[in-house]
Amino acid sequence: MNRRQFIESHGATCTNWQWSWSFINDSKRLVIFGAWDVEREDKRTRIFSEDWRTNRQGHKNRGYDQSREHIRLIEEQGYSLMTFPMKHSPKNGDYQNGVAKIAAITPKLTEKTLVRVGTSWYASDSGGGSLLAEELGTPEKYPEGGRYTVTINAYERNSKARAACIAHHGCTCMVCGFNFNEIYGTIGQSYIHVHHVIPVGQIGERYEIDPVADLIPVCPNCHVMIHQTDPPLTVTQLRDHIREQSDRYPPHRRAKAARAKTNAASYAG
Ligand SMILES: [Zn+2]
Ligand SMILES: [Zn+2]
Repeated sequence: MNRRQFIESHGATCTNWQWSWSFINDSKRLVIFGAWDVEREDKRTRIFSEDWRTNRQGHKNRGYDQSREHIRLIEEQGYSLMTFPMKHSPKNGDYQNGVAKIAAITPKLTEKTLVRVGTSWYASDSGGGSLLAEELGTPEKYPEGGRYTVTINAYERNSKARAACIAHHGCTCMVCGFNFNEIYGTIGQSYIHVHHVIPVGQIGERYEIDPVADLIPVCPNCHVMIHQTDPPLTVTQLRDHIREQSDRYPPHRRAKAARAKTNAASYAG
């Protein structure tokens, strides 16, 4: 099966089969990108970059505008992204600017999450928010020692359970309402911790996790605070605590205190 047959078997098309970088199926609201082996990083592949606009001779690359539009549809219109692996052919000149001869493709589509970093866009492996909790590597550091820590965090780090929790509850912190995508844009997309709410004393030997009832999305700050006590605070307890705290010390007073501190520091310097 060649590339065109493969793409068409998924109902997708492009403006030119020779030089297009990406393909679209409008009725399924799906965009397909080829993912170069040479652009592969740890858990993601760069599929598009503003640097790929022109080639080494300064001529505009012909696939650029079409793929830029495909990226826009994913970001702004909620099209989904899938990629298939492409092998770069070293025989036909150097790889450069995202344009090269294809040695081979693997006719298999995989669903990806689009992540923008600076002027490049990446197809990231881990959809549904499973990527960053592991990267941060922090859950086991919250509480100190004991069986409690180990047991609970095994549930919180189970990637299937995480994905099911996030699919149901979304990626907004259930304690404070913080949402990474709103503040950080696409690099924060789908990022959230999950917290396991069942105290370990209530877990029987054959306990099976219910990702919707037993796991909740929380931001890393609230997650750390939840685990300051043993047993951990509930969402309601931490919310009440935050409210009491801001009543006692309202935000405008905090800002004033911060300014006073800054002024003191600049006098001291
Ligand atoms: Zn929070
Ligand atoms: Zn937790």
